[in-house]
Parts: sequence; C-alpha cells; structure tokens
Amino acid sequence: MWDLSKCNLCGDCLVKCRYVDYDKERAVSEIRLLMEGRAADILDRCITCNACFQYCPTGADPADLIYTMQEKFKSPIYVSFKAFTDSVTKTFEKGSRDLEVIEGDPERPALSFDSFNFSQFPEGTLESRMFKGMTIVRGRKYASLVGMAHMGGASLTEKYGRRVIDAFAELGRDIVYIHNEGYILAHLRARELGIEVPYRYMHLFEYLAGYLRDNLKDIKKLNRRVAYQPNCAVRWLPRQDEWLDEIFELIGAERVPREYEGVDALCCGGPALFVNSELAMSMQAENIRDALDHRAEAMVMICPLCDMVMRGETQKAGLPQIFVTDLCRMSLGEVPWPAS
Ligand code: SF4
Ligand code: SF4
Repeated sequence: MWDLSKCNLCGDCLVKCRYVDYDKERAVSEIRLLMEGRAADILDRCITCNACFQYCPTGADPADLIYTMQEKFKSPIYVSFKAFTDSVTKTFEKGSRDLEVIEGDPERPALSFDSFNFSQFPEGTLESRMFKGMTIVRGRKYASLVGMAHMGGASLTEKYGRRVIDAFAELGRDIVYIHNEGYILAHLRARELGIEVPYRYMHLFEYLAGYLRDNLKDIKKLNRRVAYQPNCAVRWLPRQDEWLDEIFELIGAERVPREYEGVDALCCGGPALFVNSELAMSMQAENIRDALDHRAEAMVMICPLCDMVMRGETQKAGLPQIFVTDLCRMSLGEVPWPAS
C-alpha cells in the first residue's frame, strides 16, 4: 500500500520501468504529480506489471499509488475494464448466485478457486489425489479483489475485502488458495487494511510442497527444464520463490535461469492487450524467445489468466505451457508430459 512517508523522490521506480523511457528528472516529476493528487503521463502508459513495487528501495509501493490514480483519473486501463469492474461491484452490492461449493471432509482444508470457473484450470484438477477430500469453493463472494488493481479497480479491495475474508471465515476451515491473489488478500492486504483473518490459510505452493514432501515415494522425477512465468502478484511475496524452488527440486524439474527471471520477469501481457496490443504481443514474443533460448522444455504458469493470455503464442512457438498443479501431477503419474 502506498506510503508517502517512505518516498524520497529518488525516481528509481519509473526510471527502471521497462515500459516507459523516463530519465530521473521526468520520473521524479511524474511521481510528484501523483503525490499531489494530479494526473500524470504514467497513468496512461503503466500496464500494471507491479515491477516498480520491487524497484522502490524504500518500500513506498509506487505501484499502488499508480493503480489508485489510474482509477481516479479513468485511465485507459480503467476504461477498458469498466464493464467488468462494474459487474464485480454490483455483485458485492446486490449479491450474486455465482457460487459453487463441493463439500469435503470437515477435517481437511478448503481449496479456494477464487471467482474463477473450474474450467479455467486444467482438466482433472479437482480429481487430483493432491486435493482429495478437500472442500472446493469458487464464486464471486470468494473473489480475491487484489487483481482488480490491474483493471482500474484498485479501490475494490478496500471496499469489499472484509466481506471476502468473512465469507472464507464462514466456511470454518483452513483455506488453501489456488490462486496467488487470494493469498495476497489474506496475508498482506487484510493486514494493511486492519482486517482480522480468523482462519489459517496457505498458499498453493506451500500446500503442494508439503504434499509432495509427504509423498516422496510416489514421485517420479521429471528431469525437465522448465521456465517460470510468474504473475504480477508474485512481486508482493518474494517467499514464493523458496516454495516454488522446493517444488521443482522435489519433482526433479530444473528452473531455467533466464533473462526474464525474478525482478526482471516479464508480465504475461494481459492488461497490456487491452491498452497497447502491439506492446503485449512483443512482450509475449520476447518472453517465449527467452525461454526457448535458455532451452526450456516447457513454461509453467501459476495464474489462469496468464495461462489463457499466453497459450496461443506458446502453442505457436511449440513451447508446452503447463499449469503448476499439472506439473506436480505429472511427477505423480496422473497426467503425461505434453506431446511435442
Ligand atoms: S507497474 Fe510496471 S508498467 Fe506500471 S509504472 Fe510500475 S513498472 Fe511501469
Ligand atoms: S516511490 Fe520509491 S522508487 Fe519511486 S521515487 Fe519514491 S522512493 Fe523512489
């Protein structure tokens, strides 16, 4: 969350932004305008990749400032997604019947699919032994909301985050978040907003690593080189790298060290597709080229939206795209490695 008191106007956030070409003076002037509550060029050009959260050396969170102001000034991102953000707002104001709950063992955690449809995850995910006996939930009342910042709806987390946490609390179970941003809401945003989270929760990666650790004897090492495509929210949670690295080690996958790794990772191009499709397509091409140049045999995805947005281009390039749950299922013999 933006913290004005931490900003020393160094300009690093926007000098390092790969999607604009500002020198230090320009970067500082842009940030200053935003701090004063005024419009700035960056609002039209930011594709909400979240990288400046990591570029900022003081933890001021300039990305949050930019997202807030994109909503305030109705920037192109806001306009592009307005119909969707309106529909989410309506859901929370008027209620929604978009809800699916598959009851499981009361002693086991619930697995949250956020507001995604089950069909947005790989076929057979629900039947995997990894999730056996878990209560499965999805629907608008479980929407993480954090991702709305990529659609000009940054304020929705503050407005409705408490309701989402309450909906999970009503389940009376521990929660495993299959989507990164649900975890971010519980683990980071709720704290920042003073919302108590009265249940135990776990990130998907923590859960998968634990499951694999407990079932070592069933794992057949994949011995594959895999490029990692993070989603934007990963930048808020550097610990995910540790969890993912453990998963890779357990299943015998090598995380390909490539140019677009870590802080230098490229956005999938999802939000950019709506405001600058040429940029989005060139980012995807560059990202896939980089993975192939580093001899990746597949690209692993952790977000259904990144998965959908990049699938066409990875397919064209002949680079298999695998959701992280399926990568684990491959090591357990539940699904085969994709045919080349
Ligand atoms: S979120 Fe990404 S695109 Fe937007 S200003 Fe920050 S680094 Fe640039
Ligand atoms: S938000 Fe951070 S990186 Fe940007 S000008 Fe302020 S201190 Fe520097």
